[in-house]
Amino acid sequence: MKLLKERILKDGKCFPGGILKVDNFINHQMDPVLMQQMAEELVRRFASHNINKIITIEASGIAPAILVGALLNVPVLFAKKKQPSTMQNMLVTEVYSFTKGTTYTVCVSSDYLGKGDRVLFIDDFLANGHAAKGIIDLVDQAGATLEGMGFLIEKGFQEGGEELRSRGLHIESLAIIDSLDDCQIKLR
Ligand code: 5GP
Repeated sequence: MKLLKERILKDGKCFPGGILKVDNFINHQMDPVLMQQMAEELVRRFASHNINKIITIEASGIAPAILVGALLNVPVLFAKKKQPSTMQNMLVTEVYSFTKGTTYTVCVSSDYLGKGDRVLFIDDFLANGHAAKGIIDLVDQAGATLEGMGFLIEKGFQEGGEELRSRGLHIESLAIIDSLDDCQIKLR
């Protein structure tokens, strides 16, 4: 998506270890106009699917997910990183965090994810695919159907995209980074 790629080149910042910071417009301060345009593009790319629910992981996936959900007029479910003592019928999985270097658990209630659901996962970044695989596990546990996964930014030099596509899943990324070597952003 041209607008997003231009913005990454203008405002994205590279950090050692292959981290791209987009705190100016996605991850801290948010550009709601660009966010809306990205949501519209994701909706276009998944137009052939019959989606009845959006799923994401808190916190950074929520903004794009809620805009996609609003456009499709479907509920948006976010997996929680802390297990609330009051949650009933909890489904739990583990996710390794690339940026923090630790494993955390995420959970959803099966009150909101079940057999009849055809879900689209939305997140800000696809890197090694750990968050995505956690969601696949939760969707499987719930007996729901995963229609696809849409990301704002994919780091094409990490393995997540290739692995998820090789499973036959419909994966869309609005911008793919080919390299962050020498702190230079190279887009596909
Ligand atoms: P994965 O689970 O695919 O390995 O990593 C994706 C998750 O890690 C995303 O939800 C995102 O929050 C975070 N992440 C991974 N790489 C980056 C990065 O380069 N920049 C930022 N801002 N977040 C990242």
